[in-house]
Amino acid sequence: MAEMKNEFAKEKSLVVIKPDGIQRGLIGEIIKRYENTGLKLVALKMFIPAPDFVEKHYLVDPEWPIKTGTKTIKSYKDKGENPPSEDPLEITRKVLDNLKKYISSGPVVAMVWQGAHAVGLIRKITGSTEPLTSDVGTIRGDYTIDSYSLADIDGRAIRNLIHASGTPEEAEKEIALWFHPEEINEYRLINEAMLYDVNLDGILE
Ligand code: ATP
Ligand code: MG
Repeated sequence: MAEMKNEFAKEKSLVVIKPDGIQRGLIGEIIKRYENTGLKLVALKMFIPAPDFVEKHYLVDPEWPIKTGTKTIKSYKDKGENPPSEDPLEITRKVLDNLKKYISSGPVVAMVWQGAHAVGLIRKITGSTEPLTSDVGTIRGDYTIDSYSLADIDGRAIRNLIHASGTPEEAEKEIALWFHPEEINEYRLINEAMLYDVNLDGILE
């Protein structure tokens, strides 16, 4: 069987089911969505992250504070509402404090998924940050309720069930933070022949 000629099938994404996802009983449903695509689960563990670890995780991408603050401001303006501040970094300082409380409030399930376009596919299935405006059919859109304004009124992080890496480069750095190399399993899934092999010559007897 000729294998795929490239390394695309090795792309990895970090997915973390946040404490609200665990409490809502959605571990199985969330895993099923990713598994159904044909992506391969190569690592999985459950633990309670410390607040400092959560900070390290979000600051793995040095651009994260500016991107997340800017996205928040845009979301308010798209709805014709006033953002809590016009300064993206001021917004993110508060978001990060609230995220540390949220993500360390209970156990999370951390996973590494591997396959072609793993990062993009997982972001698509997960949906955009704010459940109120996430597309129908996405996990955040279908299984929860939250919004920027609700989270702001109560001074807390948006509860959106999942973290998923934003880019393959970010995924690499995040995976190095969340997993030891020996926790990542290298194996072949039977399904991969159908997804990636150049010639489907293994079917007929
Ligand atoms: P994640 O990184 O968790 O996958 P994301 O990439 O969709 O989510 P980010 O911009 O990276 O979103 O923000 C990280 C997390 O911080 C969000 O998932 C959400 O829980 C929370 N968050 C982001 N912006 C705000 C905000 N303005 N108010 C409250 N919580 C926020
Ligand atoms: Mg993010």
